[in-house]
Amino acid sequence: MGTKGKEIVGVDVGNLIEMLNKALADEWLAYYQYWIGAKVIRGPIRGEAVTELEQHALDELRHAGMLVVRIIQLGGTPILKPEDWYKLTNCGYDAPVDPAVKRVLEQNVKGEQCAIGVYRAMIDAVKDKDDVTYNMALEILSNEVEHEEDLQALLEDIALIK
Ligand code: FE
Ligand code: FE
Ligand code: MG
Repeated sequence: MGTKGKEIVGVDVGNLIEMLNKALADEWLAYYQYWIGAKVIRGPIRGEAVTELEQHALDELRHAGMLVVRIIQLGGTPILKPEDWYKLTNCGYDAPVDPAVKRVLEQNVKGEQCAIGVYRAMIDAVKDKDDVTYNMALEILSNEVEHEEDLQALLEDIALIK
């Protein structure tokens, strides 16, 4: 990476790269959970739910890209093997084995709540120490907060169906 760019990072770069790779594992698993969920989901307001799940899948994939850019800037190696997603993930993977809309949305809410915690912790770790990672984590956190609210709003709509 750029030497001056690395010099201004006030945290242990190895630990930071590890934290970024763990978040990268989460984003890939979240991407697939949304992507496959959008295909198998069945039940009330399915169309609206599919639109939301597909949008979120694209956001998670974009987050994965942002993390990889930062890992490489820091001189790290991003996860190269999918098997490492499971080894490094913070938030895990919830297979949508029950395709009911409500169940799939609830699983994804749980994932978003975990992601919010992950980026909250990343922000705390780099605040005033690594502005570039801070900025990235802040942007991702705002997306995850929006995702949680979108899903919970859909669940509220479903609860109103008589
Ligand atoms: Fe994400
Ligand atoms: Fe999300
Ligand atoms: Mg949305």
